[in-house]
Amino acid sequence: MSSTLYICSTPIGNMEDITLRALRILKEVDLIAAEDTRTAKKLLNHYDISTPVTSYHEHNEKTKAPKIIELLEEGSDVALISEAGTPGISDPGYELIRAAVDRGIKVTVVPGPSALISGLVLSGLPMDRFAFEGFLPRKRNQRREILKALKDEPRTLIFYEAPHRLEETLEDMKEIFGGRRAVLARELTKMYEEVLRGTLGELLERLKKTGARGEYVLVLEGSGESAEQAKGEDIEKWRYLGVEEHVDLLVEKGYTKTEAVKEAARLRGLPKREVYKYVSQREAEKIKKNNKKGL
Ligand code: SAM
Repeated sequence: MSSTLYICSTPIGNMEDITLRALRILKEVDLIAAEDTRTAKKLLNHYDISTPVTSYHEHNEKTKAPKIIELLEEGSDVALISEAGTPGISDPGYELIRAAVDRGIKVTVVPGPSALISGLVLSGLPMDRFAFEGFLPRKRNQRREILKALKDEPRTLIFYEAPHRLEETLEDMKEIFGGRRAVLARELTKMYEEVLRGTLGELLERLKKTGARGEYVLVLEGSGESAEQAKGEDIEKWRYLGVEEHVDLLVEKGYTKTEAVKEAARLRGLPKREVYKYVSQREAEKIKKNNKKGL
């Protein structure tokens, strides 16, 4: 019997980020194999989908994949979804996809969100070529070994990292990659989405002040000319920063806020009032957030 395994992407935070095709496929298949049945039910309830769901996660992948293959071979269509984003990308999926490919079962993809692509395109770092490294090992020695092996990698590098390990990872990166540009893309598509750009040292400093909360994609510039420049030439560092961060950098160097706005405007060739607008907007957002938190 001809049946299909659909590799189906789901939102990484914003429930609206799901394609019309994904919704139709999730309605039409006989079974949904989901990494987290609770998250899946939330999504399915939201879209009024009542397809049966079975769990397929990290701990049962090896035993569950053959059972799902059996159902596919008996003629059932199955959609594979993970807790968020694209299955198989730092998520369960490989075992089932590999087994279906080996058995000659039709496998197709229903594309959609993935945090790595969202983080990369928001980073402002070169995106013509890139390498995805997923999660680094938890053990410091192993993590550092991998980072050292990546030192001369010219492509932009993308990592996933848990908030409680982020500071340690940035410390290791700073030591190994020096003053390279990096980007922390946080809580993408969610209410507190935030993109922090700067050198590894600057991001580390900032994180030490604010702490890390939520989900992060870490994008790191590859080895190359601009990385070397950022390392040595303090003067040019602002070129890699957003307007508000440029003003912060000048304040850190001893300018008053007014002087920093004036200087950033001069260097960037922008009207002073525009730089001032960016800075005030950010401050207003901060106050709004703090008010919401009751601070
Ligand atoms: N399969 C998913 C995908 O396609 O992106 C990734 C799953 S992996 C288990 C989860 C990690 O992805 C998080 O720890 C974080 O690094 C990253 N991530 C997922 N959602 C994110 C979001 N909304 N904002 C930033 N990072 C996110």
